[in-house]
Amino acid sequence: GTMVELHSVTKIYPNGYHALVDASIKINKGEFLFITGPSGSGKSTFLKLLYGAELPTQGEVIVDNLNLTGLRGDRLSLFRRRIGIVFQDYKLIHQRTVAENVSFVLQAQGYTRKEIQRRLEPTLKLVGLSSKANCFPDQLSGGEQQRVSIARAIVGTPPLLLADEPTGNLDPDNSWQVIQVLQKLNSFGATVIVTTHDEQLVRRCNQPVVQVKNGRLYRA
Ligand code: ADP
Ligand code: ADP
Repeated sequence: GTMVELHSVTKIYPNGYHALVDASIKINKGEFLFITGPSGSGKSTFLKLLYGAELPTQGEVIVDNLNLTGLRGDRLSLFRRRIGIVFQDYKLIHQRTVAENVSFVLQAQGYTRKEIQRRLEPTLKLVGLSSKANCFPDQLSGGEQQRVSIARAIVGTPPLLLADEPTGNLDPDNSWQVIQVLQKLNSFGATVIVTTHDEQLVRRCNQPVVQVKNGRLYRA
């Protein structure tokens, strides 16, 4: 099946900047895909369209069989629960522990304490942070903090995981660990889309690549 479809999508920002131009792509369920391209080429914009943070100026964005065009309010919020998102800067809550950061989303979605506990342990184990559950983000390395943010993104078992420059603030060793976690999730069935400008990392992974150049998408 298909997870993501863009049909002739153009994104022009209010200031007139053409971030994406006539972009079309199909991404299958279960794919692991790198989106590469220099800074400012439109990689973040592409991901923002996939989780409804930006609307296309023209064309259609379809994610998991849902046409995002015109999706707003509650329907957009419900849709976003089915997507895990990881950012370059982790976006963790500093006053809360690792366990609290990861369970927070589930609490907000009304999961029971028991169900949250049932999900928390295997999720922390998967990202290699079982022993850090009661630490605060500031007590962790950058790589560990990013793995917390991945745990938070996947604890609700979304079928689609988006990561926007997840290794942008990390050294090569930590970058590699983060990418391995993402690949492991993919091996369990999640569709994973990762933007990066780290070409060395991309070469090392031997996964499919889409290049963004001047707002256009090219399957490498
Ligand atoms: P990348 O992720 O590849 O660095 P982005 O998608 O963030 O690229 O940005 C693509 C281009 O669109 C950049 O030139 C950026 O300055 C511009 N851009 C991004 N967001 C906005 C915005 N909200 N308003 C105007 N221009 C924007
Ligand atoms: P990142 O580089 O982390 O992807 P964003 O693209 O999310 O940063 O930009 C942060 C904020 O600034 C967003 O609200 C985005 O829409 C806005 N923005 C980004 N680039 C521009 C730009 N060139 N002109 C105006 N706003 C921009």
